[in-house]
Amino acid sequence: MLSIKNLHASVGGTEILKGLTLDVPAGEVHAIMGPNGAGKSTLSYVLTGREGYEVTKGSATLDGEDLLALAANERAARGVFLSFQYPLEIPGVPALTFIRTALNAQRKARGEPEVAAPAFLKLAREKAAALKIDFDMLKRALNVGFSGGEKKRMEILQMAMLEPRFLILDETDSGLDIDALKIVSEGVNALRSPERGMLVITHYQRLLDHIRPDRVHVLSAGRIVASGGPELALELEREGYDKYARAA
Ligand code: ADP
Ligand code: MG
Ligand code: MG
Repeated sequence: MLSIKNLHASVGGTEILKGLTLDVPAGEVHAIMGPNGAGKSTLSYVLTGREGYEVTKGSATLDGEDLLALAANERAARGVFLSFQYPLEIPGVPALTFIRTALNAQRKARGEPEVAAPAFLKLAREKAAALKIDFDMLKRALNVGFSGGEKKRMEILQMAMLEPRFLILDETDSGLDIDALKIVSEGVNALRSPERGMLVITHYQRLLDHIRPDRVHVLSAGRIVASGGPELALELEREGYDKYARAA
């Protein structure tokens, strides 16, 4: 599904990714762990096409298609979805309006017609109920005054509505209490499917108690320096990243 080969990328003239190679087959959930500054967020931005991130070498393909040749909105249309470390607050824009706009932008980029209001509301009600979100909350300005857990629920709802093909969660667990962590994990686990791939980026092991990854990779100084099963996350929790920092 997602195949990254010898990826090199720079930000502001500084090389951050230095030959990163990674494959995530469809249906699998892979975790990326690594020390602060390793390049984890840079990888997620490079994959989603954020401005200012320059790929200097290597490739990244989704189902064989050159992802790096596509504009950010085209990648979103292919279903590449990045969950934010810090959810946006948008005063004046109801959550429902925000989600509908995102959904229609995705449909437009796919050459599909806009979703009709009744169909959208029906879908939003169903998905909100499944995630135990009070529908009235969707009428409030997006994330404004929401608790950490509510913001996460809202983000999971967006994901469920947009049905991503490839989902990247970048330290979505940072600052969450145990209840919010469970909400995120349940939402993510519900999105597991044979057609969908996921990359879960986290600094801490605890999220992986709830989202069992198929593979765990260590990202250090811009490269994947070790890969293994879920037990690798436990080893990192016990022993820290020092060993891998030296290897990098
Ligand atoms: P991580 O997510 O693993 O903590 P990042 O990908 O955020 O790491 O950052 C990797 C490195 O790139 C860090 O050394 C950081 O200081 C640097 N970096 C990130 N963004 C920029 C930027 N806009 N300009 C210059 N350097 C940056
Ligand atoms: Mg960081
Ligand atoms: Mg980061």
